[in-house]
Amino acid sequence: MVAHRIALIPGDGIGQEVTPAAVEVLDAVGRRHGITFDHDEFDWSCARYRELGAMMPEDGLDRLRHHDAILLGAVGHPAVPDHISLWGLLIPIRRSFRQYVNLRPIKVFEGLESPVRRAVAGEVDLVVVRENVEGEYSEIGGRFNRGFAEEMAVQEAVFTRAGITRVADYAFSLARRRRGELTSATKSNGIVHTLPFWDEVVAERAEAYPDVSWRAEHIDALCAKVVLDPARFDVIVGSNLFGDILSDLTAAVAGGIGIAPSANINPEREFPSMFEPVHGSAPDIAGRGIANPLGAIWSAAMLLEHLGHAEAAAEVEQAIAAVLAGTGVRTPDLGGTATTREFTGAVLEFLGS
Ligand code: ATP
Ligand code: MG
Repeated sequence: MVAHRIALIPGDGIGQEVTPAAVEVLDAVGRRHGITFDHDEFDWSCARYRELGAMMPEDGLDRLRHHDAILLGAVGHPAVPDHISLWGLLIPIRRSFRQYVNLRPIKVFEGLESPVRRAVAGEVDLVVVRENVEGEYSEIGGRFNRGFAEEMAVQEAVFTRAGITRVADYAFSLARRRRGELTSATKSNGIVHTLPFWDEVVAERAEAYPDVSWRAEHIDALCAKVVLDPARFDVIVGSNLFGDILSDLTAAVAGGIGIAPSANINPEREFPSMFEPVHGSAPDIAGRGIANPLGAIWSAAMLLEHLGHAEAAAEVEQAIAAVLAGTGVRTPDLGGTATTREFTGAVLEFLGS
């Protein structure tokens, strides 16, 4: 029997609905593999911010530190500016726990329709590796000359050799374990300091992975190619901003934001890693029981894999694929009529629960 201590942060909106679904799947697959999960639940959220003025308590990070992993739903509220939820919770967790890799895999599943005609089921299977702690998401800069005609905003992007090296190494090794192809997103023709540096460091790291074929692509052309021919991509590595954009794009190509999972990984395992669906709190459908739990369930599978339970993780992914391919059960965002519960129930059934 293996026991893991998991911190649960369901958050806001549909985060409250999809997180319990993911937990149920974790518990079910755990029972089959002799794994138990002890959950500690935290109510950190925009709802908490509205009540107490902070997304999480001051000792929040300390409370998470000794968990084996964190499972997060979504944070966001129409009355709370996005930068509050981002800088009050997500970014502190990512940065304090050195979760410098954000993994966002995507597949076009059999039984799902992609808005992209050439995205054939079974052929599109890619991972976006997003740099998760530096780059364009920086606090350096400011607003100047407020109220004057010359009003301006300055925002500095911060790229470090160490930061690029470690995410590039992660992406090259991942590509090596997959189909051996890496694409690096750049824009070194327009951004003349940071991205040429990114390109240089990626090229240097490439020498350690002669078995991986790689190329750099400008983000604009890359977005076009992802839409025109998504099957040709294996691993795509990008900066914080480019990785964020690419993962929403690839999720849309695969059929919708509701299916996309995400893992914020601390590869050295000094700290807990955090798993969360790519989507947000979706206030427009919150509370109706119709949120798609697929992204959250797939994120739970990534959690299993990270904790060393590859077989259990594969079973969850197979159960998701089996529901999509073999039944008509899918939530309204994917063109179906199933509720969150019904979709989760179908996945549990394939897991023998
Ligand atoms: P936030 O501010 O928390 O990021 P948002 O509304 O900006 O929220 P999302 O929550 O990602 O962004 O929602 C974008 C759109 O996709 C919404 O119309 C939402 O209903 C839909 N959506 C997102 N996630 C899901 C899901 N799991 N199931 C069904 N629809 C979803
Ligand atoms: Mg949003």
